[in-house]
Amino acid sequence: MAAWFKKERKPRASQRTRLEIPRDAWDKCESCDHVDIRERFERNLNVCPTCGHHRRFLAEEYIELLTDAGSWRELHAALRSLDPLEFEHYAERTAAAQRKTGQLDAIYTGLGKLEGIPLHLGVMNFGFMGGSMGAVVGEKIARLARRSADKKIPLVLVCTSGGARMQEGVISLMQMAKTSAAIAQVKREDVPYITILTNPTTGGVSASFAMQGDVILAEPAAVIGFTGQRVIKQTIGQDLPEGFQTAEFLVEHGQIDDVVPRSSLRETTARLLRHMLGQKTVEAEKSEA
Ligand SMILES: [Zn+2]
Repeated sequence: MAAWFKKERKPRASQRTRLEIPRDAWDKCESCDHVDIRERFERNLNVCPTCGHHRRFLAEEYIELLTDAGSWRELHAALRSLDPLEFEHYAERTAAAQRKTGQLDAIYTGLGKLEGIPLHLGVMNFGFMGGSMGAVVGEKIARLARRSADKKIPLVLVCTSGGARMQEGVISLMQMAKTSAAIAQVKREDVPYITILTNPTTGGVSASFAMQGDVILAEPAAVIGFTGQRVIKQTIGQDLPEGFQTAEFLVEHGQIDDVVPRSSLRETTARLLRHMLGQKTVEAEKSEA
């Protein structure tokens, strides 16, 4: 009798396991509630296939998107913050962020090629303390920019940030001036500089290098601004216009140059670089022939 039950139950149990799709294989769009297999979101560069909502894309994924396979080489990866103010819990929070991301701070900087064009690329990582800018982020951007100016290699920065890193106090604010001075060197040498603003790009980053690109691109619906809407409302005592601080609003008001969907980011950036470097496009050469 016992053996009979055993035989019956075993196949039933295994069939049930087979039919169940693991819970974490599914994902839901935050914007339209569309539910789909996670892989389908991922294949679509984490853009919702139904409503086009741009979900968070990892820093590593932007590097993959904007460089040719095998061309990426990271620079200055060993820089880390010294906790100059011995700010309460800063050391623990930094260590936790380092464990979580496998990075020492909130930006990758390095060297690569995009459609064969050498470029310096910096990609901020929102997953590391909200992409906040302290001494390390500022220093890595400044070094990359100076290297761009020296070697005449175009500079592309993918920005995302909650603002300055308050645990570094005034030192974090000084990064705005430092990065701006280094970007000015890039401009003096006539080296192309493109910024790509992703959701969200705010605070000290939006008030410095993010808005200094020769060309400033943004992803659809990205929130871009200096201060949160609630604070502005309280300060000026007025309601804010609809769509305020979105990429679309800013392009309409001439603050940025274009809103580019993630699927076109690679091609658009490469085309801009060729144009800014005075290189002919493949299409133009073909039509001339
Ligand atoms: Zn959606």
